[in-house]
Amino acid sequence: MLTGKPTSRKKIKRFFLLILTLVLIIGGLSVYSAWRSCLLKTEDQMKRDASAVSLLVNNSLESGLKILRLTEPRITGKILHGKDAWKNPELSAVLSSCMEEFGLTSSNDQLGFLILLDASGYLIARSGEDPHRKLDFSDRYFFTDLRDNPSKQFTASSLRISETTGSPAFHIAIPLRNSKSSPKPLLGVLSLQIDAEKIDRELEKIVQNPGERIVMMMSNGMTIFQYPLPPLPQATDLLENSRVIQGPMASHVMQGGGAFLGSVGNIAARSHVITLPHDKFGLSTSVLIPRQSIATAFWSVNSHLLYLTVLTILLIGLFYIGVCSQTRNLEKAIFDSKTDSNTGLWNRRHLEEELTRLLSQALRTNSPLSVLFIDIDHFKSFNDTNGHDLGDKVLNAVAQCITNMAKRPLDCSCRWGGEEFVMVLPETSPEDAVKISNQLMAMVGRIEIGQLSKIPNHAITISVGIASTALSPDATPDELIVIADHAMLRAKEEGRNRVVLA
Ligand code: GH3
Ligand code: MG
Ligand code: MG
Repeated sequence: MLTGKPTSRKKIKRFFLLILTLVLIIGGLSVYSAWRSCLLKTEDQMKRDASAVSLLVNNSLESGLKILRLTEPRITGKILHGKDAWKNPELSAVLSSCMEEFGLTSSNDQLGFLILLDASGYLIARSGEDPHRKLDFSDRYFFTDLRDNPSKQFTASSLRISETTGSPAFHIAIPLRNSKSSPKPLLGVLSLQIDAEKIDRELEKIVQNPGERIVMMMSNGMTIFQYPLPPLPQATDLLENSRVIQGPMASHVMQGGGAFLGSVGNIAARSHVITLPHDKFGLSTSVLIPRQSIATAFWSVNSHLLYLTVLTILLIGLFYIGVCSQTRNLEKAIFDSKTDSNTGLWNRRHLEEELTRLLSQALRTNSPLSVLFIDIDHFKSFNDTNGHDLGDKVLNAVAQCITNMAKRPLDCSCRWGGEEFVMVLPETSPEDAVKISNQLMAMVGRIEIGQLSKIPNHAITISVGIASTALSPDATPDELIVIADHAMLRAKEEGRNRVVLA
């Protein structure tokens, strides 16, 4: 019959949604800014690692070039032409002494063998020991590059498994030419092997980012060095198959080019890549870190941000549920304090408040307001005869009739106490109030409840007294009730089951 207005709950819901949105925005921004700074930190580290790799490789190439330049004048004059030139042990001794001489002034331990090829690409001599086999190096890039480009003063060559040591190495080489003839014919090629494993071991102490891979490429797209080196024996396939790739360096790496072929190709597309520009040897350095590794490192440090956001949302949710349930309880308590629990009508306290408000409204708008005082006739003897339970049912049925008659939104009806009810009808003239009272009496007369129909002369009747501002313009709310009550008592005196207008 009566409904509470949960407007306060709507306001609370809106307030919590606002708080939740704010928490989500703040949490999201915190995670995003932490991710940005993690990415920048990682990129700085990547640049430092790339510089370290570039420095080590460049130093080795620089040292290698110095040795080659030192060796060149000593070897050029001694080169013999003819079928058995590769057997010449004297050349190997010269190469060894040059290496030793350079070793006195340099601490670079990444340099490997010094090798001498004839004009056809066959190995003539080697530092350390005289080669016992006639090895064909004519397919090596450093040989073909210098043979096919007479203007080139030196060239570097890609990472591969060395025939002599069986471990990964790359080369720096210079051409030996007969300067007296024109054009200068190629006499041979002098090349220095650089031990990639030693550089790799050196880098293990420097490179810090987990999961990082670094590749150095020549301008023609060949890989000269990569970190970490693929473990042997898998390295053999990868390095021997390293190939020339065209296009920008980073995209080579992304496509899985060079020695990374197969090992990085799949993860490169999901990696963060930084490429340093070409250095003086024409090499560029690219660093890759799988985004997954960055994310793992990020969450290992910043997981508290996520937990904090989730926890805050949970707490807000719990707080919201708590506040809602408290508000519901409070609203119910307020509602209960204003209603009659048996009939569901408003109680006397609420009606007194409402009457004061409605009366001042009626006086302001100069419209009539009527008050009906309703009392069930002979209810005591009805109770005594038919029992209290049936009496309760009758009370509820009369309350329902009253509710049905209070049709307008501002109409207010209450259980005044016992078997007495009061209706306040704004904008209702005394005549209309009489009509409504008569309709109510008729409706009450039609009440049919279970056993009631079996009782002879069972009809329930009421006596109604009416007060109206149209008749008592100066009456206070209390006085209006008293006037209506007196009118009802007159109706009793006049024989009950009737309406009396005060
Ligand atoms: P009258 O016609 O003069 O009004 O006579 P009456 O018997 O109705 O009036 P009286 O004031 O003598 O008695 C009122 C009765 O209403 C007394 C009581 O038994 C009954 N009553 C009051 N409250 C309740 C209730 O909540 N349930 C029931 N069943 N009866 C109630
Ligand atoms: Mg009474
Ligand atoms: Mg009565």
